[in-house]
Amino acid sequence: MAVTASEKKLLIGGEWVETGDWVEVRSPYSGDLVGRVAKAGAAEARRAIDAAEAAMREPLPAHKRAEILVRVAGFLGRRHEEVAQTISAEAGKPLKAAKVEAARAMSTFTMAAVEARKLAGEMVPMDASQAGEGKLAFTLRLPIGVVGAISPFNFPLNLVAHKIAPALAAGCAVVLKPASQTPFSALLLAELETEAGLPPGWLNVLVGPASEIGDVLVEDDRVRAITFTGSSEVGWKLAERAPRKRVKLELGNATPVIVEADSDLDDAATKLAANAFSFAGQSCISVQRVYVHRSRYDDLLGRFLPKVEALVVGDPADETTDVGPLIDRDARDRVLAWIEEAREAGAEILTGGDLAGELVRPTVIANPAPELKVACEEVFGPVCTVTAYDSLDEAIELANGTRYGLQAGIFTSNVKTALEAAHRLEFGGVTINEAPTFRADQMPYGGVKDSGNTREGPAYAVRELTEDRLVVIDL
Ligand code: NAP
Repeated sequence: MAVTASEKKLLIGGEWVETGDWVEVRSPYSGDLVGRVAKAGAAEARRAIDAAEAAMREPLPAHKRAEILVRVAGFLGRRHEEVAQTISAEAGKPLKAAKVEAARAMSTFTMAAVEARKLAGEMVPMDASQAGEGKLAFTLRLPIGVVGAISPFNFPLNLVAHKIAPALAAGCAVVLKPASQTPFSALLLAELETEAGLPPGWLNVLVGPASEIGDVLVEDDRVRAITFTGSSEVGWKLAERAPRKRVKLELGNATPVIVEADSDLDDAATKLAANAFSFAGQSCISVQRVYVHRSRYDDLLGRFLPKVEALVVGDPADETTDVGPLIDRDARDRVLAWIEEAREAGAEILTGGDLAGELVRPTVIANPAPELKVACEEVFGPVCTVTAYDSLDEAIELANGTRYGLQAGIFTSNVKTALEAAHRLEFGGVTINEAPTFRADQMPYGGVKDSGNTREGPAYAVRELTEDRLVVIDL
């Protein structure tokens, strides 16, 4: 059951605005209308930047920013059920995963409030050089300016939270463009911000054609930073087009996990089954490529496959559902085509590989060749590969054999092996005896290689969205 179809306006300069045009949002599961949102274009984007710039002329003190962020966290707690239903309805995310996301957004706001209160520069030890003798110097940490934020469909609430909460904590006004497929969670968050006392212009939300709004954010010099989460293809192009702005990118991954012979296989199988298929694999750190020591390959599969086959595939609104739909038909067809490519190349499909009704069944593919798409590109679907290896060197080489580098994991009971992997896996984060899908919202989170160029988590994002200003006093 979807939430009642609703109609929402854009938020620009503290006003809820209609444009006469609408963007329709349909349930990825049933195709039913979830609602419609006023459609923004370049003109609204310019007005939103005007409003953000005007808001920043009257800075909000840190304690006020922190109070507003804490209030939003409280509202998210009180309206948890409604928030989770909104995420689930527009993204097709199983309700139990949507509830986790809604709870995590509270934590993101709470952590951002802490950072707002801590924001400070540092003393510079001036007498450390002859030139500095007789001088006192320190830095101020100042907001970078208006921030353009662009977010993806897969965590429509918490990834918006990771954009706006740190920006507000840093003292920056925001122009947000959420994914067109999932604008309602972002607009709900904007309502909560307004209710929490955020003055007009500090948060502006635009829903509409990505390239038109994106072009304005890129071309307008008043937007000093763009913080983008989404695909590598779109992200790196934005960075190329805006060389004089700070363009912060959180992009995709083809997440590997190594399972060593000495690991606890029950623990590994449980964590892998839960984290390869949650939200139908549409997480940037969904477990995708599992490398298992050959001596334990059959043992792991014996534990892993029954857990995969026990996952409940179906209606995301049902509390028991583990795996729901992909975001749209194009995504579904692409995932099926990649499975077919592997099958035709001779890889064995151990389970799944077909549809359950309209939904892609959780699919496990054995030993695909490393150059197949499922083995090196980001599937972003309910597909996981399991490949046998003979040595740790080989496993690490296979895991690193991708253009991506966001998070990776290893299961082992040997601390030396774990630490060796932590050093040699070319990823922004390495989990040990935990699926690399794990994320707590205060962690530094981000990638290397094609996966991005920044770290999120409020403390790290605030650093990215502020600038040091040096002050020197002659004594
Ligand atoms: P996407 O197609 O790149 O879209 C992301 C956002 O960019 C959407 O708001 C989209 O707007 C917008 N966009 C598209 N083209 C644009 C353009 N030319 N200029 C400006 N904005 C543009 O990605 P997605 O399919 O929503 O999300 C999936 C991807 O995000 C995956 O690769 C996943 O790994 C990655 N991701 C990364 C992280 C992380 O933290 N590293 C987290 C989650 C997801 P429209 O919706 O209007 O097209």
